[in-house]
Amino acid sequence: MQCESCGMPMGKPEDFGGRNMENKYCLHCTDRDGNLKSYDEVVEGMAAFFSKINRVPTDVAKKRAIEHMSGFPAWRDKK
Ligand SMILES: [Zn+2]
Repeated sequence: MQCESCGMPMGKPEDFGGRNMENKYCLHCTDRDGNLKSYDEVVEGMAAFFSKINRVPTDVAKKRAIEHMSGFPAWRDKK
């Protein structure tokens, strides 16, 4: 299983949105109830993550996040 929004591998219940193993999305891409966050929220979250692990400026990280996300089913119509 991988998140259909960001591609994160999901194995344990706590990896899934709302700790529901039926959820197509991971905990990072969903709110507390397991509902998919808005596109902008997911972009922001992922940009912050990329900027931290890759030590790149936020605007670069944001571009990468958008590119990365465009490959996943949740955002396919966002291109
Ligand atoms: Zn995700």
